[in-house]
Amino acid sequence: MTGGDLTGRHRAATDGPTPPDTASAFLGDPDGNAAYAAAIDRARDCLLESFATVDGPYAGTDHETLRARIDELTVVPETGDSLAAVLETVAEEVLTDSVRVHDPDCVAHLHCPPAIPALAAELLLSGTNQSLDSFDQAPAASVLEERVVDACCDLFDYPADADGVFTGGGTESNLLGLLLARDWYCQTRFDRDVQSAGLPPEAADLRLLCSDAAHFTADQAAHHLGLGEDAVVTVPTDDDRRMNLAALDETLEALAADGRRPFAIVATAGTTDFGSIDPLAPLADRAAEHDLWLHVDAAYGGACAISDSLRPKLAGIDRADSIAVDFHKLFYQPISCGAFLLRDGDRYRFLERNAAYLNPERDDAAGVPNLVSKSPRTTRRFDALKPFVTFNALGRAGVADCVEYVCELADAVADEIRAEPALELCCDPELSAVVFRYRPSDRGARAGESDDRPGSASRPALDRLNRGIRDELFADGEAILARTEVDGTAALKLTLLNPKTTLSDLQAVLAAVVDRGEALEAETDST
Ligand SMILES: *Cc1c(COP(=O)(O)O)cnc(C)c1O
Repeated sequence: MTGGDLTGRHRAATDGPTPPDTASAFLGDPDGNAAYAAAIDRARDCLLESFATVDGPYAGTDHETLRARIDELTVVPETGDSLAAVLETVAEEVLTDSVRVHDPDCVAHLHCPPAIPALAAELLLSGTNQSLDSFDQAPAASVLEERVVDACCDLFDYPADADGVFTGGGTESNLLGLLLARDWYCQTRFDRDVQSAGLPPEAADLRLLCSDAAHFTADQAAHHLGLGEDAVVTVPTDDDRRMNLAALDETLEALAADGRRPFAIVATAGTTDFGSIDPLAPLADRAAEHDLWLHVDAAYGGACAISDSLRPKLAGIDRADSIAVDFHKLFYQPISCGAFLLRDGDRYRFLERNAAYLNPERDDAAGVPNLVSKSPRTTRRFDALKPFVTFNALGRAGVADCVEYVCELADAVADEIRAEPALELCCDPELSAVVFRYRPSDRGARAGESDDRPGSASRPALDRLNRGIRDELFADGEAILARTEVDGTAALKLTLLNPKTTLSDLQAVLAAVVDRGEALEAETDST
């Protein structure tokens, strides 16, 4: 170490241009370090003040009001203001109208309250700003990411030669899985190197299969991979919203008879709406039988791997060729944080890339970490630090407790829905998502026998009421529920992720749904 005094490593300018005044906004000397500490303290205070003073999951402000107000803000003023003043503006204009993901009435999406250890890690990874595209931009970070990926592979019982990479989430992980599947298939079937030669003439016949409850990113990936969304063949689901195996077998036969070339099955472990998990072991059998790539989209349900009691739900996942798992959902990490795992790490050869300025081949020969060849990204955040810190701070069992708790909560709230005549449960929860509907009463019979209220309700009436309930609760900032459709009819959804939420909180949400539904019905009756 040279220049070991505490004044930092920069030398005063005696020659050449003088650093600008705004160089004070950078770390690297004691003044910069102090400015950083003050800025972070101030930002944290803004956040905590906002959490402490605002009530409910959302202020309810509509998008037109927000546009009008936020349009007034300058984005690139000629000269700057104090950071304190800018942060105050952000607190007033942005934080007050942000969704509060930790509020017990925020139960809409796979959008988690982030765990505090992960937020601390976020500070470190943004402050150090390591970039995972080359070892010389992220030495320890590269090696730690490899280590965290290995630990994730272990969670899913993958073999020692498995590999993977952190991604921005399920969208990217699914694309990466299907890209490797496509290139593997073209290599093994047509001896075609897609990376250099592009798609083979047979590409028009390539097909990938997923269930009708799969995430839209399967379609999106087919588009991005040059196969087109018509290359996605959807297989019907059973009553539990799991891929129907008999229907899959029929589909495979029909495709073969048509001369199509299925190359991959996308199984979902935790569908976004229902949390349902496709039958992974039988799907692994089918994939082996037909020599197809099995990609498991475990963006949501992958978190079961952390829990002894939930892990059996994923039985067979170790046989998947690749897995997408999101940490920014049921693993409580701030956005973005996902991982892509590949059972046979050698198949990364389809993506290999060496750039003279980043990762020359001679580095590969020396075993230098080469993560840019595993990712569709170049510059990439050190998101792996977040689960590392969270797992170490809470322990595996501690994280598992949170995942198990919200799944138990989903079962409990499903019981409440079954017991409430004004509500109808659409599917037994598998994980922590609960899909249900408000059922209109038979006119006038509300006070009386309530057992068979709904049968006659028309689809437009159900659509109008359930959409109305969701919209009004959002607009009033009372509760944030998700909307979806089940078999073409509007439904409501609770996605439970918050380990602080109690059944009493959710009983209040259900009561608010019923109140709104009744009020909307009364409105219609009087018009
Ligand atoms: C959320 C989700 C995705 C998309 O993942 P992102 O992290 O939003 O990119 C894909 N598949 C499933 C099943 C999901 O729940």
